[in-house]
Amino acid sequence: MFEIAGFLHSRELREGTEGTESKIPRLDIRPIWAAPCTVAIAVSLFGAMLALLIAPFSNPIIGSSIFGVLAVTCFHVAAESVRNYNRCIDKLQFELKSFDMQKAQCYCCSVNHVSSSGSDPLVCDREIIGQCISNWFDSMLNFNECVRSTVFANLIEQLLHRPFPVPLLMNVAFLLAAWLSVFSVARFLSSREKREN
Ligand SMILES: [Zn+2]
Repeated sequence: MFEIAGFLHSRELREGTEGTESKIPRLDIRPIWAAPCTVAIAVSLFGAMLALLIAPFSNPIIGSSIFGVLAVTCFHVAAESVRNYNRCIDKLQFELKSFDMQKAQCYCCSVNHVSSSGSDPLVCDREIIGQCISNWFDSMLNFNECVRSTVFANLIEQLLHRPFPVPLLMNVAFLLAAWLSVFSVARFLSSREKREN
């Protein structure tokens, strides 16, 4: 939170000093969940293309059954995954709207600033970060307000509406479709050549 808020705050300050129109700075945030999901979508596309090539289309019932089972399984897993993700976003929205730095938990405070060996005192992270926040945002209240408004708007807009790298997925889909087309044409030409011979 501190890093995101600090970055957005620095952009706001720069825009303010340059006298340009005030606007929310653009920030690219991707959820960790999107990485395996993107790979899964790409692999699923590849699997679908492969199934399209090797499925027994001479028998439409078997071919349709294979694709039906595959599609239902994949859609169910994808839908469940998206539902879980949206539940997490709901929770995040609630936490950001009521964000309060004073309520943040700190390991050093939870162990009374004593190291695991029991001999050395631990430096308090809360104090250090609190000092940095005061220097950057003038007060803790300003920081809390920045998280609840600017960070909230950026984070939720990104995580809710743009969680996937759509251009990358479009490129993967295009490459697979091109590969399937070339393979199909080659197979068609090969079979026609055999018939002619
Ligand atoms: Zn502490």
